Amino acid sequence: MSDRLDPPFSAPDRDPADLDGVRILVFGLGGFGGGAGAARFLAEQGAAVTVTDLRTPDQLGPALEILGDVPLAGRRLGGHDITDFTETDWVVVNPAIRPGNPLLSAATRAGARLVTEVGVFLSWCPSPHVAGITGSNGKSTTCRLLAEFLEESGHRTHLGGNFGGSLLLDLPRMTPDDRVVVELSSFQLARLGPDTPRPAAVGITQISANHLDWHGTYEAYRTAKEQLLRSANSALPRALQIAALPRGETKLMAGALLAGRPVVSCGADRPQGSGVGVQDAHLCAFLIDEDGSEEVHPLVPISAFPRQGRHEVENAAVACALAFALGADRSVFEPVIARQLPLPHRQEDAGEIAGIRFVDDSKATTPEATCAALEAFSPRSILLAGGHHKGGDLTELARMVRERATGAICYGRSRHELARALDEGGVEAAKVQVVERFADAFRRATEVAREGDVILLSPACASFDEFRSFEERGEVFRGLVEGYRQQRAT
Ligand code: ADP
Repeated sequence: MSDRLDPPFSAPDRDPADLDGVRILVFGLGGFGGGAGAARFLAEQGAAVTVTDLRTPDQLGPALEILGDVPLAGRRLGGHDITDFTETDWVVVNPAIRPGNPLLSAATRAGARLVTEVGVFLSWCPSPHVAGITGSNGKSTTCRLLAEFLEESGHRTHLGGNFGGSLLLDLPRMTPDDRVVVELSSFQLARLGPDTPRPAAVGITQISANHLDWHGTYEAYRTAKEQLLRSANSALPRALQIAALPRGETKLMAGALLAGRPVVSCGADRPQGSGVGVQDAHLCAFLIDEDGSEEVHPLVPISAFPRQGRHEVENAAVACALAFALGADRSVFEPVIARQLPLPHRQEDAGEIAGIRFVDDSKATTPEATCAALEAFSPRSILLAGGHHKGGDLTELARMVRERATGAICYGRSRHELARALDEGGVEAAKVQVVERFADAFRRATEVAREGDVILLSPACASFDEFRSFEERGEVFRGLVEGYRQQRAT
C-alpha cells in the first residue's frame, strides 16, 4: 500500500495578488483543460510557471491552445526533469498522476508545496454559493442540470472542475453573488488536503466501486469521496451547507451530520423522512415539521423527463436539493428538465436503421452505468460490453442482462471475464457471444438484431485497451453505424 500514498497536499499559502515571482510547476497539462488553465491563470498573476508533461507538443494540442502565448518560465514536454521538481515553490499536480509518484516525494523533500488546480480554485473562490458534486456515475449530468437550474433562475453561474476547463480562468470576473458548480472526481477529492475549503453545498449521486487501480481498495476510494463531506465554513448559513446524498447511504449520512451538514436524502422513491423523492408520479420535496407533520411539494411530473430511467430521477433529486440551497427558483425545474438532451456519449441516440435503434453510451465505464442503460432500454437491447474492466462487482450486470437484454456481445481485453460473470449469473449461453475486437462486436450485433431492437453500446469498462478515450470509442461506434447505413442502402 505504501507505494500508493502521496505526500500531503495543502491549500495555497498565498493569495492570487501575491504570486509575483513564486515558482510554480504545473505537473501534467491534462486532457480536460485543468492543468493548462491553471498554468495560464497563475502565469497571468505574475508567477514563474513551468509546465511539464510526458506527452509531446503534438499530443498536447488543445492544452497548448489554452496556454496560448502567456509567458512561461519553462516548458518541458515529452518527459520530466527532476530539477523542475526540486527547484520550485509549488507543484500543481494533475489528477491523472498516480499516487506514490516518486517525483512528488522529491518535490516535497526539497520543500515544495503540493496543490491541485481545483484545490487552488476552492481556496480563492470569492463566492460562498458553491456546490460540489461527486459520485461514481452521474456527476456531469447532475452538474449540468444544477447549473442550468441556477442560470434559468437568473444567477450568473460557473460550471467546471472535472466537468472540463478550469474555473481559475473565470476567477478574475467572478463575484460573491455568482453561483459555482464544481464536479469533483475521486482523484481530485483524494488530494484536496485538510485545509482546503470544501464547497458550501455538496451532493453525491451514487457510489460503487470504481478506479480501484488508482485508489488501491474500495475503502480508499470511498474515503476519497467522503472528503467532500467535511465541514464547509461555519460562518455560512446552515441551509447552504446541505449534503444531498443517495438514499440508503447511511454511513455517508452519518459523516455529513458529524461534519455539521443538514442531510437531504435523495432518491427515486419515497423518503422515510425529509428529502427529495417520488410520490404519485412526481418528483417531490418532502418536509417533516418539528411536530412530525409532513408537507409534500410536487416539483416535476415524472412524465416531463425526456428519458425514462431511475437514474435520471435520482440525479435530478440531487440537483433539485442543491438548487434549493443555492437559491434557484423551483418553477424552473420542470422546463429545464424537459429540455435536457443527453451529454455526448451518455445514452445518446446514434440513429435508426431498418427499425434497429443505435444508442451510444460509451461513457458507461462502470457496471452500474451499464445497468442504468439496460433498465432504460429494456427489454429489446443487444448489449455491446467490453474494454478494460476497472474492478467492481459484475453480479448485478449479469442479472440485468439475464432479465432485460436480448443478447450481449463481449469484446476487448476483459471479454472473457465479462462472459464468465454473465455465465455465473445465469445468462443463457445462447444470448452471449465473445469476440476480440470492437468492430467484430458491432458486426455480430447487426447480424442478430431484429426490427425493434436497440444495439446498445454501454461497455461497463474503460476504453483504453483499444481506444484513447470513451469519446473516441463513441465516435468509432457512430462511424460503424454510418457504415452499416450505407451497406444497407446498397
Ligand atoms: P460521470 O460524470 O460521473 O462519469 P455522467 O453523467 O457522465 O457521469 O454519466 C456517465 C454514465 O453513467 C452514463 O452512461 C450515464 O448514463 C450513467 N449514469 C448517470 N447517472 C447515473 C446514476 N445515477 N446511476 C448509474 N448510472 C448513471
